[in-house]
Amino acid sequence: MKDSQNNEVRLEDILNTTPIAVSWSSLSSGRIEYINKAFSELFGFVLGDILDTESWFLRVSPQPEYYQNVIAPWIDKYRGYASAHDLSATLFCKDNSVRHINMCFSTIGDKQFWYFNDITDHWVAEERLRARSDMLEMVAKSSALKDILNVIVKQIQQESPLSLCSVLLFDKDEQCLRLGAAPSFPDVYNQAIDGVKIGLNVGSCGTAAYLGQRVIVEDIYDHPYWADYVQLARQAEVAACWSDPIMSSKGDLLGTFAIYKRFPSTPAEKDFELINFASNLASIAIESFRAQEALQKRAYFDHLTELANRGYFFQQCETLLNESIEENYPLAILMMDVDHFKKVNDEFGHKIGDLVLQMLAQMSLSILRRDDLIARIGGEEFAILLPFTEKDEALRIAEQLRESIESSMVLSLDHQEVFFTVSLGVACRQDGDCTVDDILNKADKALYQAKAAGRNCVFLAMPQSNTLF
Ligand code: GH3
Ligand code: MG
Ligand code: MG
Repeated sequence: MKDSQNNEVRLEDILNTTPIAVSWSSLSSGRIEYINKAFSELFGFVLGDILDTESWFLRVSPQPEYYQNVIAPWIDKYRGYASAHDLSATLFCKDNSVRHINMCFSTIGDKQFWYFNDITDHWVAEERLRARSDMLEMVAKSSALKDILNVIVKQIQQESPLSLCSVLLFDKDEQCLRLGAAPSFPDVYNQAIDGVKIGLNVGSCGTAAYLGQRVIVEDIYDHPYWADYVQLARQAEVAACWSDPIMSSKGDLLGTFAIYKRFPSTPAEKDFELINFASNLASIAIESFRAQEALQKRAYFDHLTELANRGYFFQQCETLLNESIEENYPLAILMMDVDHFKKVNDEFGHKIGDLVLQMLAQMSLSILRRDDLIARIGGEEFAILLPFTEKDEALRIAEQLRESIESSMVLSLDHQEVFFTVSLGVACRQDGDCTVDDILNKADKALYQAKAAGRNCVFLAMPQSNTLF
């Protein structure tokens, strides 16, 4: 008797010192009769909190459907067997934190023995590794930035199911935040946030971007940073927002990453770790996207004037020319060349020559319409594509360019006014024009005639003859 009591004590000790959470229940009533210390430590429940297996599993399942579709069928499948195969499950603890569990059960007579092994740390490490490599693969494949940011946000939301996340992008020119990825927020919220100027008291993200430091708002409805945005928060049904500025490797602000909660909440150590991980991933994605964008810009745009370059012009022109042939809409091309530009360089120096080219580019952009395309295709030669444009309108635009450029000037190093003029050749697409070169050559000839006629004038290329405008 004494021996057996000693044995019982030792069994209880063993159960309470094992790192695996163990419980047992009655198979017939479902009542949970015992939980060990590791069970209480893992899930936060004491025996008095728990009635039976079904209500407990329902309580710890993320949604009732999770119990019905995943856990209950698994239990049914192994009913009557001595033991079940492991099930990997996501379960909520009493304090609503999430754990990833490998669980199984065995049956002896009327008793079902349950074993729960906490694999959260391992699961998180694996998931993060996978998310990181998925994201890097998308970056390598030049996927759209929004798609990459969505992957990051969804990864964080999967790891922290009671969180809603957003990435906002910093628009340096406008000093505002633009929507990057916020797939769980209502459209009305996303529209309101898109374009919001950064500053103090501009929610958690606007303030985090402005200060360049992490902002933790535990209760949105009781915080000065959110005073102007509580209505919006109500619409999105959020009550806490922790936002981190996303910085580039050089320390420039790229955007913000934020975790929102439905209820007022204080971040725990692991939340900070999660925010760091997400900000770091987002920073890699945004920085490489911006680098790619800059490279593309360098490939397609002229460094001095920031206009499109020859290659880009031909590429765009070809697409639009084919479209205009297929759909039979009018299209015109202008060739524009600075008059006696060599003299400007000789008289005032190359730097002032450069300034003239930049001024001319700005002047032209201010006159041209949104769908027109101007490119610097040579040293002081520009080509302009005017889609949906008839002859008269093309001539009007050419003349407007000529006049405005004639009346503009730059200042030389010794503050002299440097005036300059351009000559233009205009060609419209006609039946039989199949390539960009066909039309460009005609515009070029008209330009040549404008030069021959004394410069600072516009010539139109005609099917038979060229006519002075
Ligand atoms: P025309 O009226 O017949 O066009 O005379 P022009 O002097 O403009 O023509 P020309 O072809 O003789 O000279 C073009 C000059 O443009 C020569 C070259 O040094 C200058 N140029 C080309 N690219 C640049 C540039 O990027 N910056 C500067 N400052 N000058 C340039
Ligand atoms: Mg010239
Ligand atoms: Mg020239």
